[in-house]
Amino acid sequence: MALPKYRISRSRRDKRRTHKKLSPPVLGECSHCHHPKMPHRACPSCGYYGGRMVAVPKEL
Ligand SMILES: [Zn+2]
Repeated sequence: MALPKYRISRSRRDKRRTHKKLSPPVLGECSHCHHPKMPHRACPSCGYYGGRMVAVPKEL
């Protein structure tokens, strides 16, 4: 097994992780009811995708 020769300092370890972060989820607008929705997914509010109903919308 490979074993590191030198210990990586806290500073160097944390500097490596400065690029590692979560990005906010991408949200588009439903073309049918204008609710925010994820791209390439049926609208959770009205169940429409590509101009027609493909899923059962969430009941209120
Ligand atoms: Zn919708």
